Amino acid sequence: MITEHDVYQELAQKNDSKIVLLVMDGLGGLPLHVNGLTELETAHKPNLDRLAREGSSGRAIPVRPGITPGSGPAHLSLFSYDPVRFQIGRGVLEALGIGFPLRPDDLAARGNFATADANGLIMDRRAGRISTEECIRLCRKLQENTSLADDGYQVFVEPVKEHRFALILRGPGLGGKLTETDPLVTGKPPLPVRDESGTPEGAATAALLNKWLDQARRVLADDPRANTLNLRGLAKDPGLPRFPDIYKMRAAAIAVYPMYKGVARLVGMDVIDFDGDRPHHQVAALKRVWADYDFFFIHIKKTDTYGEDGNFDAKVHEIEAVDAVIPDILALGPTVLIVTGDHSTPVKLRSHSYHPVPTLFWGPDVMPDGVQSFGERASERGALGLFHATQIVPWAMGYAGRLERFGA
Ligand code: ZN
Repeated sequence: MITEHDVYQELAQKNDSKIVLLVMDGLGGLPLHVNGLTELETAHKPNLDRLAREGSSGRAIPVRPGITPGSGPAHLSLFSYDPVRFQIGRGVLEALGIGFPLRPDDLAARGNFATADANGLIMDRRAGRISTEECIRLCRKLQENTSLADDGYQVFVEPVKEHRFALILRGPGLGGKLTETDPLVTGKPPLPVRDESGTPEGAATAALLNKWLDQARRVLADDPRANTLNLRGLAKDPGLPRFPDIYKMRAAAIAVYPMYKGVARLVGMDVIDFDGDRPHHQVAALKRVWADYDFFFIHIKKTDTYGEDGNFDAKVHEIEAVDAVIPDILALGPTVLIVTGDHSTPVKLRSHSYHPVPTLFWGPDVMPDGVQSFGERASERGALGLFHATQIVPWAMGYAGRLERFGA
């Protein structure tokens, strides 16, 4: 079967152009009142408005109409990987999220500490939401007192937050289609890990995990709250086609938070180290590596954080902080600059949402479409219309002159 990626890989050619993909996480918003403005429409952002006036706008659908995405799949989509086809297990995202250096053959799971009664029935699936300090202590206890070394496997138990941790197994031949142990309701015992792939590796991996779970539950047995645990989202690195191979571009990721670095690394981008965590620090890093790469992914996290916190003013100010660094990006002379988000996180909803994301393309060969500002409603009138976020990189390739003619 010929995929879209095959077509672009066939047509991709190298040149001296530079493409910048500037992502404000959770950018899209909603008015708080019927006649009000969104966060983006409220922000004073002369530079972004100028880009919209000189460029072309539209709205991006992250996954499919009406579907609210997590940031992992939403970023895959921005990198042109249809998240419906390329699914990353939650365990892998959890491990990437804490910056664990996951290897291709590692098996990762998301773990939850839980409380069981004397008969082993789950009473609280989150162990009373224990503190993160408590989680760190319990993970250390498990790390020191459980082992699969006799079977030739390494085990890593890494704290995440509150009752959540990540479990990583390292060793040969891990695999299969593994079920979760969480019964999802209270009053039932945890389930064993089962393999649904029917392969010898799957059966062996399930047996290893059940062996570890037995050990772990014995170690935890005397804890007043976190006396048991569950594993979910057991998965390996899906082995995605590499972005630099498909598009023949050297790609750099300039992100602060581990999960975004992790997803970028999964598709083969280089993750750039830098000091600081503000947009101007990221642009300083961009400047430093400008000559070494063709494609630059810049990830701004706080727009999403403030959306989830329900903090309208803070989200507006973060958009304004990004606006302030636009001249410094333009000074580097990008061939194509894309400004978008991975999904919407309206302050009104305090959560991710399915609303299409305002997106603009700017560059010498981008046709100005008459849109006068950057915003949800302004972008509705843009030339790009309503499109799937997986099309962003292909459009940019075209604007950058990086695609040969298709056919004679
Ligand atoms: Zn996000």
